[in-house]
Amino acid sequence: MSRVSSLTSNKNHMSQAIKANDPNRRSWVDVPANSDFPIQNIPFGIFSTDGTAPRTATIIGDTVIDLSALARLGYLSDTGAAADVFSTSTLNAFLELGKATWRAVRDRISDIFEADNGELRDNSDHKAQVLSPAHAAQMYLPVQVGDYTDFYASKEHATNVGTMFRDPANALLPNWLHLPVGYHGRASSIVVSGTPLHRPMGQTRPDPEQPPVFGPCRLFDFELEMGYVLGQGKPLGHRIGVNEASDYIFGVTLFNDWSARDIQKWEYVPLGPFLGKNFGSSMSPWIVTLDALEPFRIPAQERLKPILPYLQQEKDGNIDVNLSVLIQPEGGEEEVISRSNFKYMYWSAEQMLAHHTVNGCNVKAGDMFASGTISGPTPDSYGSMLELCWRGTKPITLKDGSERKFLKDGDTLILRGHAEKDGIRIGFGEVNGQVLPAIQ
Ligand code: CA
Repeated sequence: MSRVSSLTSNKNHMSQAIKANDPNRRSWVDVPANSDFPIQNIPFGIFSTDGTAPRTATIIGDTVIDLSALARLGYLSDTGAAADVFSTSTLNAFLELGKATWRAVRDRISDIFEADNGELRDNSDHKAQVLSPAHAAQMYLPVQVGDYTDFYASKEHATNVGTMFRDPANALLPNWLHLPVGYHGRASSIVVSGTPLHRPMGQTRPDPEQPPVFGPCRLFDFELEMGYVLGQGKPLGHRIGVNEASDYIFGVTLFNDWSARDIQKWEYVPLGPFLGKNFGSSMSPWIVTLDALEPFRIPAQERLKPILPYLQQEKDGNIDVNLSVLIQPEGGEEEVISRSNFKYMYWSAEQMLAHHTVNGCNVKAGDMFASGTISGPTPDSYGSMLELCWRGTKPITLKDGSERKFLKDGDTLILRGHAEKDGIRIGFGEVNGQVLPAIQ
């Protein structure tokens, strides 16, 4: 815990020193206009091409870069990361190396692919071993998720849900403005983008005057969230301070925390969400580093109540990321149904991590947090069908004329996101998943 004070003072200095974020850098790899992956991004993921084993990669433009090959050829030898770290099927070993090493690797990759650097650019044999077109890459779940915690950190979302299910005058419960509310979710059912999910079966009570029934979920929903991947932890009994927390968070993904609202409604009292949530959560395959998002930091929302010192964060807590939600009906065209922004968070990732560990709870590399549904202030910026259609009372009409109150079988739900400033666009790619019929 002594690290709190020593790390606090030079945070701004550290963020200014991230070489890979230099907006003037250009790559010798082609980057199409509006690409999510310019040389300033350098996210990390796990990929394979035909017949090869899954291994670590990054991406520039539409070109996937095999980091295991790059390391084997000696290009990453001065980064502090052993070459075999990049040849495993998850990022966990890399995450355990810590922020200084992640930053050194990202800076080194930036140097290798900088337009004026010929060391790899002019070596066609090495390029053939390192570069693949993105369309030929199979992407995998990038981390073995140890523990997963779901928060509830958008004030607009918590207010909307409280208004619908409890009392508009007291929509936020008394604790909400004092701590980031969360619960322990299910890590085993987190899947990578592109994985279809069956509509869950379960127990519900559609008629409050009648006994519960068993059957397919009728109120199948998504939740627009961001996922945080932890890079390092602390052992049991040690807390992570709010002003050192960003050193322990590796990066951010798009995250769809699928929800069975009818199952959830009947089961959640008094211990919270269970089978309405644990059948699946989907994440995007590329983890965008917290470092790459530093230029897009903005001040946190105004505190509506004073917060305790252990949650008081010195650096800007929010990140400006445009988010969109799309539905693609089976056989139809995708269509935007909501636009939101990561900046609508009331609680930051650093506050969540500080709160999570303030009692001495241990966390470790590969653990994940989700932000909670990110709803904006207007009805076209809500982050779930529950809110967009206001509990089924305001159906959405899609371009093909069909209506949605919740998701239908065959629908593919897509989340996309990107930060943009001064001509630099740092994107997340997408997370998509199709709803399959229930297995009865
Ligand atoms: Ca959630």
